[in-house]
Amino acid sequence: MADEHATRDDVAAGSEWSSELYAIARNQFGRASKLLNLDAEFVARLADPRRSLVVNFPVRMDSGEVRSMTGYRVQHTLTMGPTKGGFRYGPDVSLGECAALAMWMTWKCALLGLPYGGAKGGVRCTPSELSVGELERLTRRYAAELIPVIGPEKDIPAPDMATGEREMAWFMDTYSQQVGHSVPGIVTGKPIVLGGTAGRREATGLGVVYVLEAVCDKISMALRESRVAIQGFGNVGAVAARELAAIGAQVVAVSDRSGGLVAADGLDIAAISAWVQEGGVLAGYPDAERVGPTDVLEVPCEILMPAALERQITGENAPRLNCQLVIEAANGPTTPDAEAILRERDILVVPDVLANAGGVTVSYFEWVQDQQHYTWDEMEIEERLRRQLRAAFGRVVGAAERHGCDWRMAALSVAIERVSEAARMRGIYP
Ligand code: NAD
Repeated sequence: MADEHATRDDVAAGSEWSSELYAIARNQFGRASKLLNLDAEFVARLADPRRSLVVNFPVRMDSGEVRSMTGYRVQHTLTMGPTKGGFRYGPDVSLGECAALAMWMTWKCALLGLPYGGAKGGVRCTPSELSVGELERLTRRYAAELIPVIGPEKDIPAPDMATGEREMAWFMDTYSQQVGHSVPGIVTGKPIVLGGTAGRREATGLGVVYVLEAVCDKISMALRESRVAIQGFGNVGAVAARELAAIGAQVVAVSDRSGGLVAADGLDIAAISAWVQEGGVLAGYPDAERVGPTDVLEVPCEILMPAALERQITGENAPRLNCQLVIEAANGPTTPDAEAILRERDILVVPDVLANAGGVTVSYFEWVQDQQHYTWDEMEIEERLRRQLRAAFGRVVGAAERHGCDWRMAALSVAIERVSEAARMRGIYP
């Protein structure tokens, strides 16, 4: 059995989805399946994505020049229902990155008990260099290219890095134009007026804080007296920062791609949010010490929240982290070698598949409301979100006790058990 797992791990290096991030996702999957002593059949069925689509399509720039763009959509498992996952824009977006993120979406949905398999997509581009018109043409063409593999009962995209309500509106309109009627359930994270839900914009950041509250209760850490450092001040990081400041925690550092801000006695998050609202980035904010974008990871604090990119906490900087707890608001921010160092240093890690699951959970609420043509109010959404995340954390703690493992392996084991059981019961067609 051990050898079979080792062989599967080796396959990643030469596979179609080969990338550093995919190797991390496969490494985690390999370790969790060993822990569960998962049958080789299910290791084989879950180790690689079921479907991947790569598209090259032309986009007309404002200058009149036509540029060819590459986009992706990866669906990890079709066993659990439709697939679900965001799409992102960035210069490093690749098939391998999408494959890793799609696999994590499968585990996240299974851990939360949502009726979805995982998916992820994106377009390789530098969004900050594109005009609004260029972004619209890119988004609409990307949506049109995905039509063969998406649908409200097939695969439902959502926001991720550098995409938000605006892109979801363009995406939904393009799909609806193609099929001839409005289909709000084709994406989640839409503007409310188009069938979006109250609370979706804040859901991931708010969910991170709900999970943090549950974790702090469990380990007897006083969240309200804790110092928090946050890398990333976008949809996830900025909302989490505002929510933490609102409940009285001290946010001592924040950063975005333009740089970082540090204040040992706490930053004024409302003023910083207003600054970013105005100018788009943290750079130039006058009332704090300025540092580099990754320096915030090493600021003294109790809680470190990576909420930007993947692979930020590495074997190189893990020895210098100055916190008691890492809560992974971003997907895949910690490399396996960093994780080993953190374990040795007794720094707890709250894994991404739990920590940032608030986003997909409220996306699920949005999709359910779209299917039923019925709306829930924000209080109901927040209450349900808090309940589902606390229940998922309870499952993680239970599994960690049962298997004597860390919270990441516990979260993955709960998820993998659920998905492999479903795969076993469905059997193999034909
Ligand atoms: P976003 O584009 O809104 O924000 C990303 C932030 O990271 C920006 O502030 C950006 O400037 C910053 N950043 C980029 N490069 C950086 C660097 N080198 N150093 C420091 N900061 C840097 O994206 P988001 O939606 O907030 O997503 C952040 C993370 O959360 C991603 O890993 C994403 O996959 C994950 N996530 C997002 C959602 C969601 O609902 N948006 C849900 C689950 C997980």
